[in-house]
Amino acid sequence: MPKRKRDDLERRDATASSALAERTPFAYATAPESSEIVRIEDKYGLFIGGDFVEPKSGRWFDTINPATEEPLAEVAEAGPEDVDLAVTAARDAWDGTWSDLPGRERAKYLYRIARQLQERSREFAVLETIDGGKPIKESRDVDVPLAAAHFFYYAGWADKLDYAFPGRLPRPLGVAGQVIPWNFPLLMAAWKLAPALATGNTVVLKPAETTPLTALLLAEVIREADLPPGVVNIVTGAGETGANVVTHQAVDKVAFTGSTEVGKSIQRAVAGTGKHLTLELGGKAANIVFEDAALDQAVEGIVNGIYFNQGHVCCAGSRLLVQESVFEPLLERLKDRLATLRVGDPLDKNTDIGAINSKAQLSKIEELVESGVEEGAEIYQPACDLPDRGYWFRPTLFTGVAQSHRIAREEIFGPVLSVLTFRTPEEALEKANNTPYGLSAGVWTEKGSRILWMTSRLRAGVIWANTYNRFDPSSPFGGYKESGFGREGGLHGLEPYLEFEEDGRAG
Ligand code: NDP
Repeated sequence: MPKRKRDDLERRDATASSALAERTPFAYATAPESSEIVRIEDKYGLFIGGDFVEPKSGRWFDTINPATEEPLAEVAEAGPEDVDLAVTAARDAWDGTWSDLPGRERAKYLYRIARQLQERSREFAVLETIDGGKPIKESRDVDVPLAAAHFFYYAGWADKLDYAFPGRLPRPLGVAGQVIPWNFPLLMAAWKLAPALATGNTVVLKPAETTPLTALLLAEVIREADLPPGVVNIVTGAGETGANVVTHQAVDKVAFTGSTEVGKSIQRAVAGTGKHLTLELGGKAANIVFEDAALDQAVEGIVNGIYFNQGHVCCAGSRLLVQESVFEPLLERLKDRLATLRVGDPLDKNTDIGAINSKAQLSKIEELVESGVEEGAEIYQPACDLPDRGYWFRPTLFTGVAQSHRIAREEIFGPVLSVLTFRTPEEALEKANNTPYGLSAGVWTEKGSRILWMTSRLRAGVIWANTYNRFDPSSPFGGYKESGFGREGGLHGLEPYLEFEEDGRAG
């Protein structure tokens, strides 16, 4: 179709769609998911050696529901002595049973955990939403099914390592110390535990301070699956606990997901110790829309790219790069679409944007958004009512953004989109790569050749074409530059948990 005709059509479509939004305002009846399926204890101990134990530190902290600000439970804070007990339990389990167990036996435990996750999926989804603030439709349809899929997938690899790495004689490393963030608490636990266990390592896992509850429910599942005591240990606490895990001298492998700042400090702390390290850190991904893209699909991909999980996503498409010729129709459709997003009770099945995970994160988002306004970008937020209590932020987009603005450079980790424009593919590429990060990117175009041209030049570990934020356990995930190194998922995700005879390190 000639470009002028297409532009005309697009303009007509855009006018029609905004008229439609005005003509058909309809309210959704609330559809709250019951929380009765979840039983939250008053207090949670540390999961060490197959049992929940009181912390030697004697310290506890509250985990709260970010949608109501109400405390949910008291959770043990592991001190150095507790971390030491957990690492010793993991080491004993590795020496005593796990490292010698044939892969097919290890697989059985992983399959059991996966099946239990499926059987108790509603319970996990509701608990994830209560503790972290994410919409129930996301925890139900994304987090929990993907977590189960990860265990299934790596269960399949456990007895096939020699085929995965022919002639390389793979062996487990020993004890893995794993620290995870609060944006996908259960899913990140699965990403860390499944490959570690499949390859024959034992684990000490530290969940994030604000979202420990699904990891502790997973501990219950692990116990029910009869995993030998000490193979998985879960120590709750804050950053200091994480630091104690990663620096413990008997930990052989460190796997961290979180901020670039903490990732760098961990890299410094383990330098020269011989510990194996993988880091999955921040991002500032470009989601690039060319003029020949299907604009309505692109709008859905943009919304999914940045407003999914309140934008608490390391690979979020937080920088939208739009070809100048379609900027106006695209922006109009995007604004219309934003006006239909429902913000509020995360347990409501209609909710698109739930609660911001913590007060601290809300302050960080507010501060960065303020900087965007001060630096001269134009802000757009649809009108919507927010609940009186809890931590909330409206879906936000900025236009008139310069590459030098903080909102174009820094990871906001919230529902905030910065829109920039470009004229040529070369300019799009230049702008997309102009970031210290390199985790992900998106390309929207009808031309396969352009997708290939862009993807082979974008410095990003994961690139989606005509879609965004799609995950699959068989697909490797990880970054370049300040987004970290090492891959999780797929065959690649096994390698960081193994050493090989050919390395000369195995002994
Ligand atoms: P952190 O990197 O501080 O937290 C990630 C995990 O590391 C948590 O379990 C945390 O514990 C733990 N931790 C903190 N300090 C240390 C340390 N010195 N040694 C070992 N472990 C440590 O991220 P935040 O939660 O503070 O979030 C800050 C910013 O980081 C966000 O605004 C966002 O921009 C980015 N972020 C990026 C993520 C990603 O996946 N790329 C995930 C989370 C955050 P605790 O929870 O108690 O602090």
